[in-house]
Amino acid sequence: MSIDVKNLNKKFGAFVAVNNVSFHVKTGSLTAILGPSGSGKSTLLRIISGLETADSGEIHLTGAESTYQSVKDRNVGFVFQHYALFKHMTVAENIAFGLNVRKRNREETRERVQELLHLVQLEGLDKRYPSQLSGGQKQRVALARALAPRPQVLLLDEPFGALDAKVRDELREWITHLHKETNVTTLFVTHDQHEALEIADRILVMNKGSIEQEGTALDIFDHPASHFVAQFVGETNYIEASLCEPELVCWGSFKFSVNGYKMGDKIRIYFRPNDVYVSPTPETLQVKGVITETRFRGPLIELTLDIGEDKFITALIPKGVALASGYKKGEEVFLGITAFHSFRV
Ligand code: ADP
Ligand code: MG
Repeated sequence: MSIDVKNLNKKFGAFVAVNNVSFHVKTGSLTAILGPSGSGKSTLLRIISGLETADSGEIHLTGAESTYQSVKDRNVGFVFQHYALFKHMTVAENIAFGLNVRKRNREETRERVQELLHLVQLEGLDKRYPSQLSGGQKQRVALARALAPRPQVLLLDEPFGALDAKVRDELREWITHLHKETNVTTLFVTHDQHEALEIADRILVMNKGSIEQEGTALDIFDHPASHFVAQFVGETNYIEASLCEPELVCWGSFKFSVNGYKMGDKIRIYFRPNDVYVSPTPETLQVKGVITETRFRGPLIELTLDIGEDKFITALIPKGVALASGYKKGEEVFLGITAFHSFRV
């Protein structure tokens, strides 16, 4: 089942929570809605699930007009961060809940519950109560419960949000695996860029109620469409400058070829810490910097560099290079920028 959202709008009083949002989610895909807290992700998902109504716009599931269908008719499963399990029911009863509501026969229900326990790797825990499970296990039961009636669309709202980092990592891997096995069209919401970049086929980046960019992880990381996306997804530095000649931004000895700007435009040049090239001796088109901080980041070393005019940037360089060059706090180095993106501000 595919999802088509067209010109969706939702206000709470005068506050615009969802601002003319349109997108398409392909059948069988795993799509992420990524955005900061308050950007309207949950509202959007709740509208798609039918728990909230839009002010205007349309939602089509499988091409059928579903905008005004009730939740039950939509054949949509959902899991929310705080969508708690029923405490007084066992794991098996929780999973069977959606099946009982739909009045399946007992044998069929029992078989389906076993199948799901196997799918979410919780075999043998069917008689436990939620209080006897870890946070990660509870969310897997919640997923099994959502999957039980064989929904054609699965909506997940920060399903791992409340769990600690290690468990989140495990569940991320597990959900990719689960998605491959079930192939249910899945739309999941997260504010965690690593989660989105790692597991989604496609990502919709949301800001202030609007979709700012849609694409694969690679598109969004390497070709940010707006300055919001450039600074929200991945680590980045920026400097503010303007044209010194037509199609050329100058900042010290840095020269950036750009197009589409007029003289006098305020331009921001964004570049990632791993696109900063550091050398101990000056080369052409480099600026001087002073190391003010060195930080250990596993295989990389992060340098904070004072490049003058009250501007500090970070550079990520391989540990071996940093050690061989003996970079340390207080030392003067020279930097180049190997890749950048520019936006008008
Ligand atoms: P996200 O999930 O991206 O954090 P939400 O969709 O939950 O964002 O909320 C977007 C904005 O809409 C927030 O500023 C929130 O306060 C507001 N909002 C959400 N639900 C309601 C509501 N029922 N009444 C009023 N404001 C709401
Ligand atoms: Mg939310």
